[in-house]
Amino acid sequence: MNQDIYLDANATSPVLPSAIAAAANAMAGCYGNPSSTHATGLRAKVLLDGVRERARRVLGAGSGSVIFTSGATEGIQTAVLSVLCAVRERQAAGDTVGDLLLYGQTEHKAVPEALAHWNRLIGTGLTLRALPVDGEGRHRLDVLRQLAPRAAMICTMAANNETGAVSDLEAIDAALRVTASKALWMVDSVQALGKLPLALADTRIDYAPFSGHKLYAPKGIGMLYVREGAPYTALMAGGGQEGGQRSGTENMAGIAALGAVLAELEEGDTFAPHARLHAFRERLVASLREALPGIVFNTPLHASLPTTINFSVPGLSGRDLLDVFEAAGVRVSAGSACSAAKAAPSYVLEAMQLNEWRCASAVRMSFGPAVDEAFIDSACERIARCGQAIRTGGLAPASLGQGSRHDLIRFGLDGANTWLALDAASGSCVVIDPVAPLAERISSIIRSRDFRVRGIIGTSAGEPGASVRAALASLLASQVDFAESGDAFGWPAASDSISLDDGTRADAIAFGRQVLARVPASSGAATGQAYLLGEGTSGRLWADDVRYAFTGAAPSDMLHEAVQHMTALLNRDTILCPTSDAAGVMCTTAGANDAGDCRALELAPEGLEDFLHAHPDALVIDVREPWEHAAGAPVLGGRAAISVPLSRLAAELPQWMRGGQRPLVFCCRLGTRSLRAAQCLARAGYRNAWHLDGGLALAEAAMGTGRDAA
Ligand code: PLP
Repeated sequence: MNQDIYLDANATSPVLPSAIAAAANAMAGCYGNPSSTHATGLRAKVLLDGVRERARRVLGAGSGSVIFTSGATEGIQTAVLSVLCAVRERQAAGDTVGDLLLYGQTEHKAVPEALAHWNRLIGTGLTLRALPVDGEGRHRLDVLRQLAPRAAMICTMAANNETGAVSDLEAIDAALRVTASKALWMVDSVQALGKLPLALADTRIDYAPFSGHKLYAPKGIGMLYVREGAPYTALMAGGGQEGGQRSGTENMAGIAALGAVLAELEEGDTFAPHARLHAFRERLVASLREALPGIVFNTPLHASLPTTINFSVPGLSGRDLLDVFEAAGVRVSAGSACSAAKAAPSYVLEAMQLNEWRCASAVRMSFGPAVDEAFIDSACERIARCGQAIRTGGLAPASLGQGSRHDLIRFGLDGANTWLALDAASGSCVVIDPVAPLAERISSIIRSRDFRVRGIIGTSAGEPGASVRAALASLLASQVDFAESGDAFGWPAASDSISLDDGTRADAIAFGRQVLARVPASSGAATGQAYLLGEGTSGRLWADDVRYAFTGAAPSDMLHEAVQHMTALLNRDTILCPTSDAAGVMCTTAGANDAGDCRALELAPEGLEDFLHAHPDALVIDVREPWEHAAGAPVLGGRAAISVPLSRLAAELPQWMRGGQRPLVFCCRLGTRSLRAAQCLARAGYRNAWHLDGGLALAEAAMGTGRDAA
């Protein structure tokens, strides 16, 4: 079994065994309410007081107080509420309090959101102002010095969760003193605990929120440091727990677990010292450099937490990188909010004014101070495997798809299909219906293979297709092998012609042994064109040899109607490749019918083992991209999956359709892509196409099988 390599500690961490034991002990043996006066309650109170004392020592709280909260978000609300209530009182008394709520531009969203929320609710009417950072993510002290006299509150995190950039708190402190700022100062210290020295009472920091789950305690427990004399307003009123500062019966299991972590920090040897963490990071950085040539680090390595690495790789999207790491069992996260299709650029990297591509494709790798040498060894080995997968799986622009047997690739985006027909033997290709967002990617694939481009054509005339085709042609200028004709579909000026099966003649582009012929898209007034692709023989393209028909933007439920006028030119197994993919059809066969049932057969992870046992001829097919397959090839019930990426399904469909309907079990990471593959086959009339519900993660857990270490 592929062990998870968890490298997402800045999101959350596993729970230390000693913390689990302490929580269990608190629940089993020390379950009293610390407010009760009987012995059971007193025992809980002793535990509570003990953890608080330890926390005070670890944080260097001096005469300040430490309040237990549910986490940092609560601590942030409490600090902001406290400041704004004090501001309102001072406003009412006619004091000058400043008009700005100043926060670092790279703060966790909890900070500006809390400022806006409470400012609105309390009606303090202050202006929120983001304090810019420099290219390394450090606060602009010149701007701070200008604005500090006007600020009622200043929020500057100790270390950034995306990049690990460590703030220069001493310089901020000095800027506040030198400008005689009266602002109250909150430092979100979530990412600093256990990684940076803390002596809060020696600073002029007024509030410092912490979160247990970022350092091996469970979720739902946190702390808030409040400097002695700093204004305080309770967020929660009630039974008067925490000295009336935070009502509600204490989360004793969480507090006990946090206590165990603090004990490790204070006197244990579980956490690696700073120098060792730096050495660990250097090893990871070296592995990344080796595996991902051209990598750029968005983390300022000399001024950041030794446990965080944020990077981008030219030519590779964040999504692609995450998929490869995920396939290799390496858990990392996008440096930015990332949805399946599009990555929203990271506001943190944008604030550092990094290039657009770096902001959009960043990946964050972070580990906790409890990791050891063996863990780093495994992580480096896995990173190397990812690099290898990217090279052999065809993701790296320099090595894409060498020797691939596939001759048709589909690129799907927002309900549109772009098709790339390749002829490996002659090293030539044709692009059909390119869309703007994919132009870069398609051109980099063609360039890296050094293919000659015999045509860039559309199934419909005019814009926006014409501009995209022109843009792609100019990106591929040195490889374009055709003279533009000015034709509305991009059809080349000097093309051949060929006879079709019905005796008519059609314009044709020959590339290798293949030929692409153009025919009107419909029998009526021709507004579009369709293309037939197959091997021509003696100047003729027989219907039996037409493997693909590019049908244009016919609605998916009318695909067959759209090709009715040319059925004499196709065979039953010809794959219909539409441009519009609104209904997720991808492709189907000419012999199927539009009203066909496209429901996929579903396999539950628990049922997979029995299914494979009962069907020794079943083929397990991994529809993830080749680089994901190469990073971790699934072996389910002892059966190795073959790789047929969703983008290459059309190329495989003909041979499956001709086969004997053996059971096909499609799988992917989460079950989304495999569902589409099985639906596509069902629609094409294949009655034995299954999809593994819930994806590989659930199946492997259910079957206790793993992935190839190769
Ligand atoms: N501040 C920073 C820097 C964080 O990384 C996080 C967690 O993502 C938070 C605040 C919020 O912490 P919690 O999950 O404890 O509410």
